[in-house]
Amino acid sequence: MRHHQFSVAIIGAGLGGIGMAMKLRASGEGSLVVLEREAALGGVWRANTYPGCAYDAPSHLYWYAFDQVPDWSRVYARQPEILRTLQETAARHDVVRFIRYNSMVTGLIWDDSRGIWHIHVQNAPAITARVVVTATGQLSQPSFAGIPGRETFKGSGTRFEFAPARPSSSSAQAPSA
Ligand SMILES: Cc1cc2nc3c(=O)[nH]c(=O)nc-3n(C[C@H](O)[C@H](O)[C@H](O)COP(=O)(O)OP(=O)(O)OC[C@H]3O[C@@H](n4cnc5c(N)ncnc54)[C@H](O)[C@@H]3O)c2cc1C
Repeated sequence: MRHHQFSVAIIGAGLGGIGMAMKLRASGEGSLVVLEREAALGGVWRANTYPGCAYDAPSHLYWYAFDQVPDWSRVYARQPEILRTLQETAARHDVVRFIRYNSMVTGLIWDDSRGIWHIHVQNAPAITARVVVTATGQLSQPSFAGIPGRETFKGSGTRFEFAPARPSSSSAQAPSA
């Protein structure tokens, strides 16, 4: 039977949420869940697959201070290597098994009398936690500029946050010339 009560619930399995889970595991926390709305970890580094997607800061400056520095193959590592490194790091720190995928958090309600959070998850029973960490990022939600003709454009295109590999009504569309 699935547990529904945790000490800590983390929302989001991007770099932030995975990092938090790693630190909690290292401190001995075992009552932990990471709620991720997508079917895989990685956050922006899973969502962005456009050609040339890469760090814009030097690779050796971009990683967890408490983890070993990855042996990056380039000064500005590219998205596939970043995602692979994050997947391997999450596995090495034994946090993958705490992630619940396809778990979109839709609401948080604080219960003052019991000192717990009620966490509402789309199409799943609510769960509770003493502590909630929101690691939902800032670039995981598409935001389209008001470009005239975008909705009716039939050609292909690409955009920053979500790459063509993620087909949906919000996927790559560009205005006609
Ligand atoms: C192309 C690109 C290049 C970048 N380069 C750099 C760089 O060089 N240096 C730098 O410092 N930063 C860079 N960034 C910024 C990057 O966003 C952060 O560095 C970092 O990866 C953000 O991690 P995060 O975990 O905070 O958020 P995210 O990676 O956005 O992860 C958030 C996760 O939360 C999940 N989520 C959101 N809402 C919910 C919900 N309601 N329920 C459940 N799950 C939810 C999302 O699906 C996602 O998996 C770059 C970003 C992009 C897109």
